[in-house]
Amino acid sequence: MTETSASLAATETHSFDTLSLSPGLRAALEQLEYRTMTPIQAASLPISLGGHDLIAQAKTGSGKTAAFAITLLTNLNPRRFAVQAMVLCPTRELAEQVTQEIRRLACFEDNIKVLSLCGGTPIGPQRGSLEHGAHIVVGTPGRLMDHLERGSLRLDALNTLVLDEADRMLDMGFFDDIVYVAEHCPPKRQTLLFSATYPEGIERLAKQFLRHPQEVKLLEQH
Ligand code: ADP
Ligand code: MG
Repeated sequence: MTETSASLAATETHSFDTLSLSPGLRAALEQLEYRTMTPIQAASLPISLGGHDLIAQAKTGSGKTAAFAITLLTNLNPRRFAVQAMVLCPTRELAEQVTQEIRRLACFEDNIKVLSLCGGTPIGPQRGSLEHGAHIVVGTPGRLMDHLERGSLRLDALNTLVLDEADRMLDMGFFDDIVYVAEHCPPKRQTLLFSATYPEGIERLAKQFLRHPQEVKLLEQH
C-alpha cells in the first residue's frame, strides 16, 4: 500500500463521523481540531458508546481521556443536576488534566459542571462546591472516599464510573480506596477501566467491578 492510500484508509475508518455524537460534542471536536480518532478511540468508542463495560489498554499519550470523556458526556443528562459520572485518577495533576479535557469537550453543552476533588487542598470549599451541585466529578480515590464518608458526595444518580490510569492507582496503593468508592456506586452503571499496562491487580479490579467487559488492548501502537 502506498503512503497516500494508507493515510486515506486511516482517515476513512477513523473519522468521528462514524459515531453517533451530539451536535455539541461534534462542535467541540472541531474546535479542538480532533479530526480523526486515535487508534484507541477508534477501537474503544464503538464499544463504550454501545453501553458496554470496557477494559482499554494503550500507552500514555494515545488519547484515552477523550475516549472516556466522549462516552460519559454522551451518557449525561445536563438537565439532571446530580453527579452522573465519576473519574478516579492517581494524582491531582492528572485529575486536573482530565477535568480540563472534559470541560473542553463539554463547552458547547449548556452549563455542564465538572468538579475536581483531590487531596492536598482543604476539604471545606470542595464540600461547598458539591452542595452547589455537579454533573461530573474527577478526583483521587482517597479524597473521593473522604467525601463519601462525610456524606458530601452522593452517587445515586451515577451512570458512568471511570478508572483512569488504573495501573498507576494500584502502584500507589489505592486498591482499598477504589474498592470503597466503587462499592458506593449504583450497581446499574457503566464502568470503564483505562490503563497503560495490565498487571495482575487490574484483573482483580476488573473481575470485582466490571460486568462482562469487552477488552481492547493496543500493545504495538505507535
Ligand atoms: P492518554 O490518556 O492516553 O495518555 P491523552 O488523553 O492525555 O492520552 O491524550 C494525549 C494528547 O492527544 C492530548 O494532548 C490530546 O489533546 C490529544 N488528542 C486526543 N485525542 C485526539 C484526537 N482524536 N486527535 C488529535 N489529538 C488528540
Ligand atoms: Mg490518561
